[in-house]
Amino acid sequence: MTKAPLPPGSTIGIFGGGQLGRMTALAAGELGYRVHVFDPETDCPAAQVAGRHTAAAYDDTTAIEAFADAIDVATFEFENVPSASLATLKGRVPVRPSGAVLHVVQDRLREKDFLNSIGVATTAYAAVASPAELAERVQTIGLPAILKGARMGYDGKGQRRIDAAAECEAAWKALKAEHAILEARVDFACEISVVAARGLDGDLAAYAPSENRHRDHILKESVVPAAVAPDIAAEAQAITGKIAAALDLVGLLAVEFFVTKDGALLVNELAPRPHNSGHWTIDACLVSQFEQFVRAVTGLPLGTAERHSDAVMTNLLGDDVLAWPELAAEGDASLHLYGKKDVRPGRKMGHVTRIKPKT
Ligand code: AMP
Repeated sequence: MTKAPLPPGSTIGIFGGGQLGRMTALAAGELGYRVHVFDPETDCPAAQVAGRHTAAAYDDTTAIEAFADAIDVATFEFENVPSASLATLKGRVPVRPSGAVLHVVQDRLREKDFLNSIGVATTAYAAVASPAELAERVQTIGLPAILKGARMGYDGKGQRRIDAAAECEAAWKALKAEHAILEARVDFACEISVVAARGLDGDLAAYAPSENRHRDHILKESVVPAAVAPDIAAEAQAITGKIAAALDLVGLLAVEFFVTKDGALLVNELAPRPHNSGHWTIDACLVSQFEQFVRAVTGLPLGTAERHSDAVMTNLLGDDVLAWPELAAEGDASLHLYGKKDVRPGRKMGHVTRIKPKT
C-alpha cells in the first residue's frame, strides 16, 4: 500500500450519510477533497453537503462496485456496514479503517474479548444465548446487571437492566436477541470518552477526555475538561492509543470509559469513526475530529489534538432543536444543525457548543 497522501481533489467515499458523514464532508471540503456519500436515503444529512450521493441499499453489490470505482478511498460513519459490502469495496479501493477493525467492534462480545486479550479492563461479562443460560450467568456475574444484544445496539437500544433473578425471563423475552451479553452494572463516578486519530504511519493524536452525561441513554452533554485527575485523563488517552495500535487502525477511534469511584478505568465501548462526544473539537481545537479523520484516511499527516478552549457541547435532541432561533441569537454559542426534516423524540437534530478560555 502506498503511503503517499491522496492529493487534494481526490474523492473520499463515505458509507453512511448521517450527521457524522455531513461534518466529515464539510471538513473534507476545507482540505480540498471531494466527497461521495453512499446512503439509501435521498436528501440525507451528508448528501446535502457532499458533491455526489449514491442512494442505494448497503448490500447492493452493483451500486457498491460503481461507488468503489468512483472514489479513491472508502470509509464509514457507522459500524454496522455488512461485511460482504466491505469485501466488495476492499477488492477495489483502500478501506480505512479496515474491515478487520469493523469485525471486532460489530459484536459486543468479540469487542470485550479483544479488549481483555490486550490487557484492557472492562466490566465483568458473559455470553448468553438462552433464558436458562441467563439465569446461570446472573449467579456468576452478580446483580444488578445489564443484558445487551450482542449486535447492532446503539444509544442504549437493545438493553435491559436486571435487578433481581426473577426478572431474567422477562428481560430475555423483551431483548428479542439471539446472542446477548450480560454485563455487571458499573456503579461509576462518571463516564468519559477519548477520541484519537491514528495515521497511516501509526502516528497518534488523542484529544482530551470529555465527560459525558446522558439523558434516557442518549448523550446529552459533553464537558471538557472532564472532572477527573490528570493521571486518569492521561491513562485514558494512553489506553485509547494502545487499542488503536492493537487494531492497527487508520482513522478515528472513540473509546467510552466508566470511571469507577476508586478511580479505575473500565472500557464500555469502542467506535472506529467520528463520535458524538468529540463534536466539541470543532469549536475548541484548531484541528477537529472530522479534520483528523479526513487527514488519517487520506494519508495526510495528523494535526494537533490540543484544545485552545474548554467546551460544553450540548446535543439538540428531538424538540430541543425548536430553540434554534434563540440559539442562533446567542452570539457566542456555536450552533450546528444537521439538516434533518423530521423531528422525533431523542433524534439527534443538531448540537450547540459553548467555549471559554482553557483552564
Ligand atoms: P452502551 O450502548 O453500551 O454505550 O450503553 C449506553 C449507556 O448505558 C452507557 O453510556 C451507560 O450510561 C449505560 N451502561 C451501559 N452499560 C453499563 C454497565 N455495564 N454499567 C453501568 N452502566 C452501563
